[in-house]
Amino acid sequence: MAKVIAVNAGSSSLKFKLFDMPAEKVICSGLAEKIGHEDAIFSIKPAGKDKNETICAIKDHAVAVDMLLEALIEYDIVKSLDEIKGVGHRVVQGGEEFSHSEEITDKLERVIEELTPLAPLHNPANLVGYRAFKKALPKVKHVAVFDTAFHATMEPQDFMYPVPYEYYEKYKVRRYGFHGTSHLYLSQQGKVYLKDGQSRIITCHIGSGASLCAIKNGKCVATSMGLTPLPGVMMGTRTGDIDPSVITYMSKQTGKTCEDIYNELNKKSGVLGISGVSNDTRDVEKGALEGNERCKLAVQLFARRVADYIGQYYVRLGGCDLIVFSAGIGENSAYFRKEIIDQVSEALGVKLDTNSNNNTIRGKEGYISTFDSKIPVVVIPTDEEIVIARDTCSILKIK
Ligand code: AMP
Repeated sequence: MAKVIAVNAGSSSLKFKLFDMPAEKVICSGLAEKIGHEDAIFSIKPAGKDKNETICAIKDHAVAVDMLLEALIEYDIVKSLDEIKGVGHRVVQGGEEFSHSEEITDKLERVIEELTPLAPLHNPANLVGYRAFKKALPKVKHVAVFDTAFHATMEPQDFMYPVPYEYYEKYKVRRYGFHGTSHLYLSQQGKVYLKDGQSRIITCHIGSGASLCAIKNGKCVATSMGLTPLPGVMMGTRTGDIDPSVITYMSKQTGKTCEDIYNELNKKSGVLGISGVSNDTRDVEKGALEGNERCKLAVQLFARRVADYIGQYYVRLGGCDLIVFSAGIGENSAYFRKEIIDQVSEALGVKLDTNSNNNTIRGKEGYISTFDSKIPVVVIPTDEEIVIARDTCSILKIK
């Protein structure tokens, strides 16, 4: 059996999972947080054992990777680093170039770098993670798994924006979509709930970032995020779809730069902006139940926007055979799921089973709709890491 690491590097974090492949067995998982700080946190959890956490200075991603590799030996997770046969990296923006995962070569590294203007926060962080692993494991091959790749099957009518054509031709302005690795996983996992001849799925990845995807015959036909992860449904701190005129209007009204306003639309809006309480839906749910009007509005607005996309995708797919909920909110909040489904139940004949909805939380998978619901609704905990590990094995021909 070969060991493969799935990596998700952010600007100040590094998430990892080590798998035994092809058995797809998780050997350990962990996270380095607050990289670049004196009080960074490194945690590693061997499967079936307690988590070990260290708080210390972690200068950069290279130090985090060294800590991980040392921990693998120290906790006897691997006998030798030679057991690691491949590393798969989440790369957020693959542009139009990539419809599949690819082995990272010097050329590919340059292309990922060149795509930075389209994902200024993410691609550089993903590359920093890759370079740190490459330095620490120079003999091992690496694979890039693009968040955008699953959406490459969209038709122009679904991915083009009606802007001057040169925006697209010269500047690559179009809808790319994100969370593709998660939507792919959910569509594959969702197949077991489909009857013969059925193939139309609406996947709702709703966590602190949120996007929906319309999937037919295993292929993405539409998705709610766009050029960046800002549009689509409302999120923890992002607006989702709004009139872009808000930017210039607010800039003129307040004297703030367009960049400042844009940052507020990304970081101070969504659930946080409306509730004024938190970007975490747990706090907002509590606030709503206690009668806080802005928390109530945040929940209703969130639900309405997700429901609007479900309706749109129902039409886009010519019907729907399965609705899937996933990610932090989709997997854990019976409250939010009910608010969303309540908005589509009359038109689509979808009925929630209260008991299953309340009990299908914290990593559980299964139906939350009644037997007579016109469209079955299921919760599937997402697993982007397993897709990264699978792609890494298939591309590097690891057996
Ligand atoms: P993710 O980005 O998928 O990790 O989702 C994280 C978000 O999920 C958190 O910020 C919360 O808003 C939300 N979340 C997690 N657990 C719950 C819960 N039990 N109830 C409501 N929201 C939750």
